[in-house]
Amino acid sequence: MAKQQTKGICRLCHQHVGKAAMKKHVLECTSKHDAGKPTKPAFLMRAEFPYDKRFWLTFTVDASTTLNSIDGFLRGAWLECCGHMSEFSIGGKTRKLKDILEAGIVFGYEYDFGSTTEVLLTVLEEHEVAFGKRSVRLLSINEPIEALCRVCGKPATQICTECYDAQEVEMFCKTHTKTHVKQQHDNEDYMMAVIINSPRTGVCGYDGPGPEAWDS
Ligand SMILES: [Zn+2]
Ligand SMILES: [Zn+2]
Ligand SMILES: [Zn+2]
Ligand SMILES: [Zn+2]
Repeated sequence: MAKQQTKGICRLCHQHVGKAAMKKHVLECTSKHDAGKPTKPAFLMRAEFPYDKRFWLTFTVDASTTLNSIDGFLRGAWLECCGHMSEFSIGGKTRKLKDILEAGIVFGYEYDFGSTTEVLLTVLEEHEVAFGKRSVRLLSINEPIEALCRVCGKPATQICTECYDAQEVEMFCKTHTKTHVKQQHDNEDYMMAVIINSPRTGVCGYDGPGPEAWDS
């Protein structure tokens, strides 16, 4: 089944914008929004889940900080469950972004070396933006994905974390969650998780971002 692409929602103006057009959109939207404020050199980045590109977001990060900023941001917005290890494909986390990044560079990130969630990162552009108390700002995140029950095609609310693999997920409506649990798991439902807008939905103990994860 072909997966529909998702649009992203700009966090500044709430417009829904396609993946290719989002770069131009957020560059214009941030410069309008930041007019008159002190700005810093920054990297505009896209993060996406390579196995299901409906999960994607754009953010901007202060160029004077290190890969640690991106690590902390990805954990908070998308991934953190129980403090697993993580790594970047381009080296140690204390490396300064301005020494290693430039527009066009694509690199990888892995969270949790057991039930790994891989993230693909692209440097879209170098720009000047204002930062609040954090060194990263989330600029857009994908619309909620259309999750449909495998059995009846109605909106799904639960995912089975035991029957999950990266390519094909087992998602169910309320009724068929019950059927699945009965037929596959002897009526034990501890492996069923609520669907969350994150590539880590249904993996390990992931239960969604904390209340402040997307503040900037
Ligand atoms: Zn906007
Ligand atoms: Zn975990
Ligand atoms: Zn169903
Ligand atoms: Zn199952």
